[in-house]
Amino acid sequence: MIFYIALQVNKRLKTFYVLFDIIAYMIIKNKAASFFAIVIILLTGYILYLAISTPVTVVIQAGHEGRTTGNTGTESRLYHEDRWNTYVANEVAKQLRRWHIKVKRVPADVSFIRATIAVSIHFDGAINPCASGASIGYPNDNSYSFAQRWKKLYANYFPYKWQQDNFTKNLRDYYAYKRIRAEKFLVLELGEITCDKQAKWLRPRLKKIARLIAYSIATELGKNVKKPVL
Ligand SMILES: [Zn+2]
Repeated sequence: MIFYIALQVNKRLKTFYVLFDIIAYMIIKNKAASFFAIVIILLTGYILYLAISTPVTVVIQAGHEGRTTGNTGTESRLYHEDRWNTYVANEVAKQLRRWHIKVKRVPADVSFIRATIAVSIHFDGAINPCASGASIGYPNDNSYSFAQRWKKLYANYFPYKWQQDNFTKNLRDYYAYKRIRAEKFLVLELGEITCDKQAKWLRPRLKKIARLIAYSIATELGKNVKKPVL
């Protein structure tokens, strides 16, 4: 944590070098200016501290969104995972905002954030089509009951198979767990995009699935909201 904050501060140091040069000049010039310089330093530090430490209620991440290299997501002949992730993540955020829940929508690469709940949206791919299905990954026991509630909700709707929780290495060691520090964090694989049967079922239902995710988050936060009609 301390190391991470130090890193964040370090990234911003370049901006400060210029500021320090101006301040050093001002201190030599006159005392009133040096007083204002100190005020500016303290204010900047405070803003930086707030940016790093203020938690948000919900973080919704679209998996692979914005990536052009590295893990850019799964694709089939017809569909790209990151496009589906982005669409679903946007719909989840929209629905949560309608219920007056504060949401931060983030792409794949994020800087440090703290949240009450974080959900990352994905669709799986498999070398042997239809070998996979839906699954959930989470980093801690704290997220376990939320994960099981989501599974129960989605299993009533999604008619294909489920993998065990944290079943892939990606889900176990998900990099965003380190960047997004959430009390509860779920990485959702909503189905297998490389399985034609599942993809055909999923595609016209992406909006409904998004609403179900939003409902699951809202109820986890203790909000009394209407369950979407599926
Ligand atoms: Zn993915």
